[in-house]
Amino acid sequence: MSDTKQADLDQVRADILEKNICPELAALAHNLVMGDGNLNADIVFIGEAPGKNEDEQGLPFVGAAGKFLNEMLAQAGMERSDVYITNIVKYRPPNNRDPLPEEKKAFWPYLTRQLDIIAPKVVVTLGRHSMEYFLPEAKISMVHGEAKRITFGDKKIVIVPLYHPAAALYNGGMRQTLIDDFLRVPTVIEMIKKGQ
Ligand code: URA
Repeated sequence: MSDTKQADLDQVRADILEKNICPELAALAHNLVMGDGNLNADIVFIGEAPGKNEDEQGLPFVGAAGKFLNEMLAQAGMERSDVYITNIVKYRPPNNRDPLPEEKKAFWPYLTRQLDIIAPKVVVTLGRHSMEYFLPEAKISMVHGEAKRITFGDKKIVIVPLYHPAAALYNGGMRQTLIDDFLRVPTVIEMIKKGQ
C-alpha cells in the first residue's frame, strides 16, 4: 500500500519538475521540498513554504518552527513518524518572504494530489496561507483550533486551522493558544474514528 503511495508521490514530484512550476523560485532553491512522514497518517500538517534550513535539507519544518512543532507533537502524544508534513509552496521564497498568491495557486493542484494519495482523516493547516485554500471565508483569529468539515473534491474531510508555529514561537499569548489548540487535535481524530 505504502509502496504504491510512494510511487504516486514520486510521480507528483516528477510532474512539478517536468511542468517547471514556479521557475523563479526553483532557480534560487537548493531543493524541492515535497513533504515528510507517514504515508498512511491520519493527519497531514500543511505549512506555508520551506525556509532556509528546509531548503538546505530538502525536508519540511526542520528549523526553529519545526522544533516547536516536534515539541507540540510530543505533548499531544505523537511523533513526526505518525504524521505527514508538507507545505503549500514547495520551494523556498527568497529571503523567506510570504508566498505570492500565484505561487500558492501554482502548487495547489499538487498539494491536492498529495492529499488524495495520503487520504488523511484530518488536515491541520499551519497559518493563514494554507488555511485560505480550504476555508476561503475564514479569519484565522476567529476559527483557530475549530474543526471544520468541508467537501474536498469528491470527499468530505476535516480541517483544523492552527496558527503558524513560526508566528507563535516568540509571541507568548499566541504560543499558548497554539499549544492549547494543538492538544485538541487527537480528540478530533478520535471523534472522527468513532463517526461523530
Ligand atoms: N515554515 C513553514 O511554513 N514550512 C516549513 O517547512 C518551515 C517553516
